[in-house]
Amino acid sequence: NSSTQQQIPVTLIPGDGIGPEIVDVVVRVFDALGNPFAWETQQAGVNALEKNGDLLPQTTLDSIGRTGLALKGPLSTPIGGGFRSVNVRLRETFQLYANVRPARTIVPGGRYEKIDLVLVRENLEGLYVGHEHYVPIGDDAHAVAMATGINTRAGSRRISKFAFDYAVRNNRRKVTIVHKANVLKALTGLFLETAKQVGLNYADQIEFNDRIVDACAMQLVLNPWQFDVIVSTNLFGDILSDQIAGLVGGLGMAPGANIGERAAIFEAVHGSAPDIAGKGMANPTALLLAAALMLEHKGLHGQAKFLRDAIDSVLGEESGRTADLGGSTSTSKYGDLLIERIRDLQ
Ligand code: ATP
Ligand code: MG
Repeated sequence: NSSTQQQIPVTLIPGDGIGPEIVDVVVRVFDALGNPFAWETQQAGVNALEKNGDLLPQTTLDSIGRTGLALKGPLSTPIGGGFRSVNVRLRETFQLYANVRPARTIVPGGRYEKIDLVLVRENLEGLYVGHEHYVPIGDDAHAVAMATGINTRAGSRRISKFAFDYAVRNNRRKVTIVHKANVLKALTGLFLETAKQVGLNYADQIEFNDRIVDACAMQLVLNPWQFDVIVSTNLFGDILSDQIAGLVGGLGMAPGANIGERAAIFEAVHGSAPDIAGKGMANPTALLLAAALMLEHKGLHGQAKFLRDAIDSVLGEESGRTADLGGSTSTSKYGDLLIERIRDLQ
């Protein structure tokens, strides 16, 4: 029928641990919302390895290649056995160079009120490229390990441009470039220099400054409100994004988007949380907010705002909070409350 034809195909990956429980809530909530997406469910992660002997099946890759869009539950990589991280493989395969992690206070009464900032992390370069090795120069007691990082002019320009364009598109006012150019003068100096050059092209719209990563970490604790959009290299971005998640109530509240030219994958920042898997305790908010980012990515701002308002409203009351937020509501009950609220607001 015509409504199905207008739906946007999206690859949906339930994933491992708490993944299926939180994906189930997203699916139910989007049904209530009037789903603009046609889910194409695919497997990846340890569950896929156990079922089909493959952590990242070709059918899943083909599906993402076709849809160019995925919503992904957490994927575990088995420790040992020489498996490469599935998440890193997805980023590399689809060249998802930008990782976007917004953090916004929803639940009042936390350590910080009114946090609203976005971290843009370079996703393919830096110290994550994986050129790591031991230097064979002696016995175990004198072992030496080495890692190299790679930043390129083109990669630095691409991520900087992404961050400034993002700031313009989302009515942000400032971009802070985070680096360690006082010590890693070549590796992060190149990034800093390039990002500043890019920033000059946006001078009439967006203000920019720069911070050394250690000072930035301290400032995020002392006065996080001074930041708006932060752009950084891979490793620093990784660390700061978890810190930023901590400012707004932890991992259960932190969505992420991995964006490339041909594909975009939306996810919760947290892992599979095996300690609470199957117990109905997981907080699905992070994945719901990731789905809201996907709505915005497709220009569906009205529906994204509607979903966020419903989430804000449910989490505004203690009865709507899961255990990680100090409440006692179960995963599926939270979904039920959200669906009720959506129906009230419609
Ligand atoms: P993985 O190995 O897949 O990264 P992990 O053990 O590192 O899994 P994470 O998901 O990264 O687990 O998170 C660490 C802890 O934070 C979990 O053990 C869990 O208690 C808590 N946590 C993470 N996500 C959620 C969530 N959505 N709801 C509630 N608690 C969560
Ligand atoms: Mg983890």
